[in-house]
Amino acid sequence: MNINVKTPAVSASTEAFLKRAHKLYINGEWVDGVSGETIDVLDPATGRVISTSTAAVAADVDKAVAAAREAFDKGPWSKMTGIQRGKLISKLASRLEELADELAEIEAIDCGKPVTYAKYVDVGLTANIYHYMAGWASKVSGETVSLANPGDYHAFTLREPVGVVAAITPWNFPLVLTAYKLAPLLAVGCTCIIKPSELTPLSTLRFVEILEEVGFPAGVVNVITGYGSPAGSALVEHHGVDKVAFTGSVTTGRKIAAAATGNLKRVTLELGGKSPMVVFPDADLDRAIPGLAGAIFFHQGQVCTAGTRLYVHKSIHDRVVEGIAAESRKLKIGHGLELDTTMGPLISSAQLQKVMGFLDQGKSEGAETVIGGGRIGDVGFFMEPTVLTNTHDGMSVVREEIFGPVLCVQAYEDDDLDAIAAKANETIFGLAASIWTRDLSVAHKMAKRIKAGSVWINAHNVFDPALPFGGFKQSGWGREEGAEAIRTFTEVKSVCAVL
Ligand code: NAD
Repeated sequence: MNINVKTPAVSASTEAFLKRAHKLYINGEWVDGVSGETIDVLDPATGRVISTSTAAVAADVDKAVAAAREAFDKGPWSKMTGIQRGKLISKLASRLEELADELAEIEAIDCGKPVTYAKYVDVGLTANIYHYMAGWASKVSGETVSLANPGDYHAFTLREPVGVVAAITPWNFPLVLTAYKLAPLLAVGCTCIIKPSELTPLSTLRFVEILEEVGFPAGVVNVITGYGSPAGSALVEHHGVDKVAFTGSVTTGRKIAAAATGNLKRVTLELGGKSPMVVFPDADLDRAIPGLAGAIFFHQGQVCTAGTRLYVHKSIHDRVVEGIAAESRKLKIGHGLELDTTMGPLISSAQLQKVMGFLDQGKSEGAETVIGGGRIGDVGFFMEPTVLTNTHDGMSVVREEIFGPVLCVQAYEDDDLDAIAAKANETIFGLAASIWTRDLSVAHKMAKRIKAGSVWINAHNVFDPALPFGGFKQSGWGREEGAEAIRTFTEVKSVCAVL
């Protein structure tokens, strides 16, 4: 398979943005990094350099933390009323909506996303998260408590902002995953330092320009670009940081959990997944097949919740597998900026090699390739949507997070829900799962049996700012989104007056 990859023209505003010397944003100013080093940013569809970012070091992190610390300790942000903060967050959300085309273009060229998806999924969800959390800003409060001890007391709790937060994000959904952290932390009155991935820092930098334009006070949001080490690690180890909100791999999550022990900072971790999709014989296959294909091929499978393990009843196995293969043939693979593209490249050469390595191992262990399995062309980092059958739980392709467009299919014969759930739960991860059946009783019984933070019924990858999101087991610690996000960025203080 070969495709013709050209870089389509970008708008004048995006072209000017890409050419800008991207600096660090500290205390309301764009400043050079101490080391003077930069990092090339690539278009994954062509492998060409499209921009550069600053490689921050520990001395830059010190400045950013000092700015966030001062803004938190002295205000005005943490001392504003919830309504004042909420108004500014709402204004930001509306401005993001106005600039959706531009932001989507940047996200598409930096991450290799189809621009239409970037506009409606990435920018659309991001703006909604800020709109939703803007409402929470004025609704954060404690409660009165009736004490167990005899006597006259007036006791109540206060819910106070946790302080300075380091928000560290991966490369696959930069705008959305920053919003997961920023929207609630800003709502409750925290200040922060964002550290985007060195692979895809661009939309975060443009986002912060917008945030500055909207009128957020200096020091409330700071941005440090750079590598995981030294920039990310310096942030996580810093004693001026009160909490780390991290999204990324399990490997980095473990390092962060260990590094945070220095000052026992609070930590939330949104990590990897290997999400099962369970299809029952009575499922509406006209609806399920496109849903299952979308669950694995959306953003080339580089989604933490991607439906990577398909458990399908033996009686419908062949029909479902053929259906998913047919769906994959309909994908238009190309540059994300082409309007008809529905599947872009993987993020990097390293990621492509990693996925290919998994495929080689899977095949050597007996997996059969129904469709795909290869790289596409030699420009950029494209690969074919791939379906493997004859897989089993002992294979690395079934056990480990591949983070590519690779579906592993297993047929089951059992009718016992506990046995089916045990297969779905046979993983160190517990981020998400989907259940496909017309029988609502079966669906809800299965939802209870599956060990995952999100369970979808007759759908996959349904995200909403009001729904808590996070993982069981090694998929992470804590929850983002919904009311849970407000709890995670606040400390509870008990106040008790003896009358
Ligand atoms: P990664 O862990 O390599 O990097 C994530 C971020 O951490 C980057 O900004 C990186 O620079 C930084 N980092 C790296 N080492 C660090 C260190 N020692 N200290 C501090 N920061 C450090 O992850 P990635 O490859 O960018 O992203 C892919 C992973 O993210 C996958 O495992 C995926 O499942 C996961 N992910 C999870 C969710 C979720 O919500 N659960 C969402 C998206 C992605």
